[in-house]
Amino acid sequence: MDYRATFQAAVDRLKDERRYRVFCELEREAARFPHAGRRDAAGERRPVTIWCSNDYLGMGRHPEVIAAMQDAAGRFGAGAGGTRNISGTSRAMVELEAELADLHGKEAALVFTSGWISNLAGISTIAQLLPDCLILSDGLNHNSMIEGVRRAGCERKVWRHNDVAHLEELLAAEPRERAKLIVFESLYSMDGDIAPIVAIADLAEKYGAMTYIDEVHAVGLYGARGAGVCERDGVMDRIDVIEGTLAKGFGVLGGYIAGDAALIDAVRSHAPAFIFSTALPPAVCAAARASIRLLKQRPDLRTAHQRQARMTKHALAAAGLPVMENPSHIVPVFVGDAETCKAASDLLLERHAIYIQPINYPTVPRGTERLRITPTPLHDDAMIVTLVEALVDVWTTLGLPLTPAEPAAAGCALPELKRAAE
Ligand SMILES: *Cc1c(COP(=O)(O)O)cnc(C)c1O
Repeated sequence: MDYRATFQAAVDRLKDERRYRVFCELEREAARFPHAGRRDAAGERRPVTIWCSNDYLGMGRHPEVIAAMQDAAGRFGAGAGGTRNISGTSRAMVELEAELADLHGKEAALVFTSGWISNLAGISTIAQLLPDCLILSDGLNHNSMIEGVRRAGCERKVWRHNDVAHLEELLAAEPRERAKLIVFESLYSMDGDIAPIVAIADLAEKYGAMTYIDEVHAVGLYGARGAGVCERDGVMDRIDVIEGTLAKGFGVLGGYIAGDAALIDAVRSHAPAFIFSTALPPAVCAAARASIRLLKQRPDLRTAHQRQARMTKHALAAAGLPVMENPSHIVPVFVGDAETCKAASDLLLERHAIYIQPINYPTVPRGTERLRITPTPLHDDAMIVTLVEALVDVWTTLGLPLTPAEPAAAGCALPELKRAAE
């Protein structure tokens, strides 16, 4: 066996399919986010503005969050010391879980090392504990949820994305007594669309199913206290399990599920990915908790976030760029071809010092390649104007079509932006 050649061939296949991924090496600057440094191919440090971070509110550089992390590291050290069973349960972790349970209005919460792991462990363990469980999974669920469904090993049916009629069809075909677990996301991060959560909760009630929602792209960002879209829509108490991350809107690291005490205790006691893996360090827990507490009291940050996202969409559309419509903070700009998407991203970086990575297959279907822009409250109006000008230049350079929106729609955003930029 030629091991080396086998691995090289695996990489070459991706290169042939234009799916080989190249990382952008960044040095974030806590004091100047979203400005950062970037190492180019020659190792030279160049300035760059980040427009594609999932640290949606810039909480990863918030002075209070950094202070909480530094203080906890100074007092408790750098690591956790073990799994939760073996000396890894810290006071900071217990406080973090209480904070999360309170955030979501649930009896308990359980923290994992990442959101990815919390979905893998949460979905698979819950489904395995339910006899003859049927999992009903949304067709566009994130990879971590698909892995959790696979690992559960039970029967599964996929319902067409956000299609409640299809979901009802599948539910109605089962005996009411059969255990059923509906797994879906509140906010889908590539298209930025939002699930019909109330309708799904209604169906779950009607057919006796449990509900499990991934609020990864909504926690910190939606709802009066930042608990997510379920809080905003008033359905938190009607969803059985809420899963979230501490790494995106909260800006730190880790994942969790929140729900009834018995369910959380059962997952805590049965999930190998929880039991056999070292806990998050106290400093990470303390920083995440500081971020959650802060955001519970900062609806103004959520308002500013929504405003900058809306302004970006308006300004891009007014300039003729193909913004993909959605009701959220995600700003996808359609390209439709992997190579062009990569070329657009490269041009933005080299010519305009703007970093927006290309989103290609398999993250999105072939033919729907796009740039995914995520404005934060720290991307001010002047930066939006700069971004629009840069994208128009890239579109023109690559010969991509520009179709300006209705003047009425354009008029409402651009003058407002320009004034603010002066
Ligand atoms: C990023 C992501 C996750 C994983 O969360 P991490 O904390 O980054 O591991 C889970 N679900 C969705 C929808 C995501 O986009």
